[in-house]
Amino acid sequence: MYRINKLGLTLEIEDTLLSSIIDIGVQHYPNEFGGFLIGNYSKEQTHLSITDTILPNKYKGTPYLFERDTVGINDKLKQFYEEDPKKYYLGEWHTHPNNLPIPSSTDINAINSIANHPEVSIKNPVMLIIGYNKTKVELGFYVQFKNKLYKYEKN
Ligand SMILES: [Zn+2]
Repeated sequence: MYRINKLGLTLEIEDTLLSSIIDIGVQHYPNEFGGFLIGNYSKEQTHLSITDTILPNKYKGTPYLFERDTVGINDKLKQFYEEDPKKYYLGEWHTHPNNLPIPSSTDINAINSIANHPEVSIKNPVMLIIGYNKTKVELGFYVQFKNKLYKYEKN
């Protein structure tokens, strides 16, 4: 479980999903890679549960940059939604090869534009950054809340 005490928010992700996301990300070494996060909020909107990922059909990844295209993603989201109307787009994940899971200025701009996108029905997008090197993996879960980025702490 991850939490932001100040905001009373909690987040969970299943270990199997998390390890498969990490595996997929690391396969693209030395380039960054990423995808979309799917799941649901609790009724009170305070507890977030990440259940699935969708990988981009088209993307550009270099050691310091990851850009995903959203082509075809809406159809895949619709499939999740049809299976379970509680499942929707929550945010995105990407890797930082040989680096820490700290958001770059590009990452901050990206999450800002998601939060302020008129066609995206999510005010508080989540961003998972997977920092890794040969010996360890570090995760950073963030949420954009009222135009500010907060980090979830693990406990
Ligand atoms: Zn980044």
